[in-house]
Amino acid sequence: MTDTIEVSALHKRYGHNVALHELDLRVRPGTVFGLIGPNGAGKTTTLRTLLDIIRPSSGTVRVLGEDPRRGGPALRRRIGYVPGELHLEGRASGHRLLAFYAEVSGRTGSSASVLDTARDLADRLGVDLNRPVRTLSKGNKQKVGLIQAFMHRPELLILDEPTSGLDPLMQREFLAMVREARDAGQTVLLSSHVLSEIQQTADEVAVLAAGRIVADGDVASLRLGSVRRIRVRIGGADAAAAHAAFERIPGIAGVDASSAADASGGVQVAATIEGAIDPFVKALAQYEVQDLTVEEPDLEESVLRLYGNPSPASATAPTSAPTRRPRRSRGRDGREGDRG
Ligand code: ATP
Repeated sequence: MTDTIEVSALHKRYGHNVALHELDLRVRPGTVFGLIGPNGAGKTTTLRTLLDIIRPSSGTVRVLGEDPRRGGPALRRRIGYVPGELHLEGRASGHRLLAFYAEVSGRTGSSASVLDTARDLADRLGVDLNRPVRTLSKGNKQKVGLIQAFMHRPELLILDEPTSGLDPLMQREFLAMVREARDAGQTVLLSSHVLSEIQQTADEVAVLAAGRIVADGDVASLRLGSVRRIRVRIGGADAAAAHAAFERIPGIAGVDASSAADASGGVQVAATIEGAIDPFVKALAQYEVQDLTVEEPDLEESVLRLYGNPSPASATAPTSAPTRRPRRSRGRDGREGDRG
C-alpha cells in the first residue's frame, strides 16, 4: 500500500539558513505519526511543504499519492490542517466561519453533516460557536482551528503544535479525537515539542533537530522518556566532593554542584539521569537529603542528552541513536520564499 506521506531528500534553505537537510519521511496510512523537536528544528517548515504553502529548495514530496504542487484544491480537500500560528480575527461567529469553510472548500460529505460534526466537536471541546471569533480566547480560537480541521473527516490530518493554548483537560480531549481519527482509518501527522502528548498517541515518531532527523522509530525505542532532570539539596557535604560522587553514578550527566544560596549550609546538585534511577536513589542514602525533585526535562534537553547537538554545521551525527540518517549537504537551487 502506498504511504500517505512520502518525503525524500527534502531540503529547504531560507537564504543562507538551511532549515531542512535532505529529510526522508514516510507515514503509513491509518497511523499517527509524531514529529517532535525543539524550537526551530524545522517542524513547521516540513508540514508547510506538505501543503504547498512553502516550496522545497529540492527533494520530492508526495501526499496521498500526489505532488502537493499539482494537487490543487482537490488534494487540499482531502487534508485537514491546523497551522502553528492561527489567526482568527474576523467579526463572524464560529458557526458562520465554519459554514463558510465547509462551503467554499466544497469539502467531502454534505455541508449539513460536516456542520453537525462541527457542532458535536464544539460541544465536546466546550467552545461557544455563537461568539464572534475575534472575541474568543487563544485556547478557544485554537479549538475552532481544530474543529475546522477535523469536521469533514479528512483522510489526512496535519496538525502543527495543535494543543498550544489548550488547558490539560482539553488536551486530553484532543488526544482522544486523534485516537478516534486513527481508529476510523484516518492518518495523522502531529508536530509537537511536548513529549508526553506524542507518547500518548503516536505509533511512530521522528525526532527532528536542527533540520535533521536524528532518530526515528516507535516511541519506546527512542528512550526520550527515559531522561529525567534531578535537583537535590544535601546537607553535610562539600560541593566539590558531591560533584565528584554524583559524576560516578551510572546514567548521570551534566552534574552541577554548588553551595545552596540559602542559610541551610547544604549543597544544591542538578543533573540529568538516563535509564534506571535506582543507583541514584541508593547513592543518595549516604547523605542528609533536604530536598529532591525528579522531573521530565524539556524536549531540547532530552534530545541533546540522547543525540548530542546536531548543529547544521556538523556533517556526522552522534552514535547513540537507535536509527539515524546522516547526509551530506549538497548545492541547492530551489525557491526560497513562502507561498501564500
Ligand atoms: P517551533 O517549534 O519554534 O515552531 P519549528 O521546529 O517549527 O520551530 P521552523 O519554524 O520550521 O521550526 O523553523 C526552522 C528554521 O527555519 C529556523 O531556524 C527558523 O528560524 C527558520 N525559518 C523558518 N521560517 C523562516 C522564514 N520565513 N525565513 C527565514 N528563516 C525561517
